[in-house]
Amino acid sequence: MRKKIVAGNWKMNLDYNEGLALFSEIINMVKDEATGTQEAVICSPFIHIHSLVQLAKGYNKVAVGAQNAHQEEKGAYTGEISAKMIKSTGAAYVILGHSERRQYFGETNALLAKKTDTALKNDLRPIFCIGETLQEREANTHFDVIKTQLVEGIFHLDADQFAKLVIAYEPVWAIGTGVTATSAQAQEIHEFIRKEIAAKYGQEVADATTILYGGSCNPTNAAELFAQPDIDGGLIGGASLKSRDFTDIVKTFN
Ligand code: PEP
Repeated sequence: MRKKIVAGNWKMNLDYNEGLALFSEIINMVKDEATGTQEAVICSPFIHIHSLVQLAKGYNKVAVGAQNAHQEEKGAYTGEISAKMIKSTGAAYVILGHSERRQYFGETNALLAKKTDTALKNDLRPIFCIGETLQEREANTHFDVIKTQLVEGIFHLDADQFAKLVIAYEPVWAIGTGVTATSAQAQEIHEFIRKEIAAKYGQEVADATTILYGGSCNPTNAAELFAQPDIDGGLIGGASLKSRDFTDIVKTFN
């Protein structure tokens, strides 16, 4: 049975103390809710990660991740953070390819392929984001866009490496907009992604791959989204900044 994950993406929010306070609240609220194959993950700014890992000790259904990592192992890249550094804090995950990084920092599929390799080499599990813009959907090119993101970003991996990935389908038009994909729209793309994985790596790998939905997911719409056969949880932006909302989304699986 594949892992069910609700991952929060705090983005560039919360100072150090605010982050620790929110995470403590979240742990207290989700510790009895995440059960079985479920996991709750918080991807915080870099400054919080080490302390959050300490707070999460003893809670094996709660994990911590970063929101980005550099593609090189180390070197003269002032201001950057390497996958090895992130791993050394005890973090387990790293978001790669978020649409905000693609849009504002020019991250291409080719760059993301390198970032994925470096993250995996350093034993971090990438939460690899893909998704189309509104223009791409309106032009009916969304399936092509997603296939290209898969092929150029992660389909160079071998099956063992691929098995360590979590994929997040995040339609760009739904991120932070309050507009959610309908459960049918999301399921259609998740099914497509799983079929592409099956064609490349075989059905067993495809069936074991956790595919999250992201884009204005909240406690009201999570249940219907997560009830879809190919949706294995969510990547949650805005609602992960409120402990009650995030916990209610985690509880959706129960
Ligand atoms: C995100 O940033 O990954 C995201 C899904 O944001 P939101 O939930 O706020 O739409």
